[in-house]
Amino acid sequence: MTLFQYSHSVASSRQINVSFEFFPPVSDEANDRLWAAVERLQLLGPRFVSVTYGAGGSTRKRTLETVKRLVSETDLDVAAHLTCVDASKNEVDAVVRDLYQAGVRRFVALRGDPSSGIGGRYSPREDGYGNGAELVAGLKAFSDFDITVAAYPEKHPESPDFQLDIDLLKRKVDNGATRAITQFFFDNDVFEAFLERVRKAGIYIPIVPGILPIHHFGKVAGFAEKCGASIPHWLAERFEGLDNDPHTRELVAAAVAAEQVGDLTRRGVSDFHFYTMNRAELPVAVCRLIGIHELQPETGREVAA
Ligand code: FAD
Repeated sequence: MTLFQYSHSVASSRQINVSFEFFPPVSDEANDRLWAAVERLQLLGPRFVSVTYGAGGSTRKRTLETVKRLVSETDLDVAAHLTCVDASKNEVDAVVRDLYQAGVRRFVALRGDPSSGIGGRYSPREDGYGNGAELVAGLKAFSDFDITVAAYPEKHPESPDFQLDIDLLKRKVDNGATRAITQFFFDNDVFEAFLERVRKAGIYIPIVPGILPIHHFGKVAGFAEKCGASIPHWLAERFEGLDNDPHTRELVAAAVAAEQVGDLTRRGVSDFHFYTMNRAELPVAVCRLIGIHELQPETGREVAA
């Protein structure tokens, strides 16, 4: 039996489903941190886990290595993020073929951030897939993959208007996407209003909220600005003065995320995707606060604290 090989069916026996997003590690230390997080988070029985693809495809090698290791050493369902920015169709198709041969059947299909990073100018390549919707069509032409796409409750920052975003999301669904994960957001009313627009446009796939537990308020605020995600005043207030107090910050972060998820469940949402930042503590704390506990691999019983 390999390191993490076992399965249990927590996900099917409860009403709330979670999934976890990781990024490929850059150093040995980061690698250890990632695998420690995977080892712990898999005990929560996620529907799937996913691994990001760096801006401009910059982490291709590390993403593929991480995805392949997750597939071969765990029983987790693994989704590979894949972007089409700065790559020809042939290059993207070669990655798909490689991952298919490694057993990957799930993708998170994205246009991608340009190599200059978020907010950098995007220009499609003539020989490439032009956007997320075209990439979905390319993936579907290859095989009947499970395809997740991105959605933006506060509009994609490059979009001149909301309707274009919704039209593009519809195109992704028409081309075969079966689920969308949202950019992170902190105001649940914003999500609910977005969901209403999406349903009105005839889009009926699950729209899964992307939840970002706030590991470091300053960093999250800077990132949010680039992504076009707003930070409510009350949220900034909760973290005010905690820059040099990581312990209190963590407690507040867990409470804030659990409150957000709890409120969304009361509004009828049942699936959540956590941006883990390759750390288990916050997602585990949030899951516990909404009633999802780690289960022992051998017995299926709850892990004692
Ligand atoms: P698309 O939906 O294809 O397009 C985004 C915007 O571009 C549109 O809203 C529109 O403004 C414009 N646009 C696209 N096509 C057209 C058109 N034909 N005409 C006019 N305007 C157009 N990035 C990474 O690099 N790697 C990752 O692993 C990654 N993972 C992510 C996971 C999630 C859940 C989310 C929400 C985002 C992720 N991103 C990732 C970020 C994402 O790549 C960026 O937000 C990117 O800028 C848009 O990708 P998309 O697939 O949403 O693009």
